[in-house]
Amino acid sequence: MPQGELYIVATPIGNLQDITLRALDVLKEVDCIAAEDTRHSRKLLSHFGIDKPMLSVHEHNEVQRAKEVIVQLSEGKKLALISDAGTPLISDPGYQLVKEVRAAGYVVSPIPGVCAAIAGLSVSGLPTDRFRFEGFLPQKLGVRRERLRLLSQQTSTLVFYEAPHRIVSFCTQLIESFGEEREAVFARELTKNFETVHHGHLSEQLAWLEGDANQQRGEFVVMIEGFKQPEAGELLDVEAIQLMDLLLQDLPPNRAAQIAAKIFGKKKKLFYDYALSKKA
Ligand code: SAM
Repeated sequence: MPQGELYIVATPIGNLQDITLRALDVLKEVDCIAAEDTRHSRKLLSHFGIDKPMLSVHEHNEVQRAKEVIVQLSEGKKLALISDAGTPLISDPGYQLVKEVRAAGYVVSPIPGVCAAIAGLSVSGLPTDRFRFEGFLPQKLGVRRERLRLLSQQTSTLVFYEAPHRIVSFCTQLIESFGEEREAVFARELTKNFETVHHGHLSEQLAWLEGDANQQRGEFVVMIEGFKQPEAGELLDVEAIQLMDLLLQDLPPNRAAQIAAKIFGKKKKLFYDYALSKKA
């Protein structure tokens, strides 16, 4: 009997020509395709002339579906997992399925292709030697803020996904945590007609979004430059630190940094970073 095998197949994030030749071969060959949203994926598959039995696998039924997939694999069947777009498991379902199928002793094989985070990073111009993928932040405001606070001192490039209806408030929260001057890249609608890769400080990103409602539409990868330690010559002297400590007793970091920067005639970022390092 042939060996059952599960393929994890990446699909396009916009431009359908980004499907790989191997992905098409595998999707044509397998006995069944598991997909996050079968209606959505049927459209993609029919575009490529593929018509296969399908199984829906989403957040709420993954464990149960894993058992059904394992039964099919035990019969020697081959299956593929796809998501609505891009690489499955990357801010998409599939983790439980892959875990269970591997534990049951079956081969899980990747058919790599597009991932929005990697596509965004590749054109960001930000350092890519080390990056940290954060995906979607939790939706609860307090939890989001805390997560951003913890990330504010990370030195690697940060990569987020965000939905269009939250993009402006997300940008505001980024400013609260990282300061207005942190370098960022907002990559929107990658591989689609309105693809836009916008570079600038966070304050410029916010002005750009607020200045044109069209720029708030579509899908976003948001990338933030990692925290940079101040240069030795730029360290705050004792008086500056004392003033900051005093101001921080009554004022939020942004305001305290504004005042101290004016008094000492130095960059606000220097004071802001100090305030964040104190909180961390
Ligand atoms: N699995 C996908 C991947 O490999 O990138 C990600 C799926 S996640 C549910 C969807 C999010 O990915 C979107 O909200 C957006 O943040 C990002 N994304 C997907 N397609 C994109 C595109 N064409 N341009 C920019 N971001 C995109």
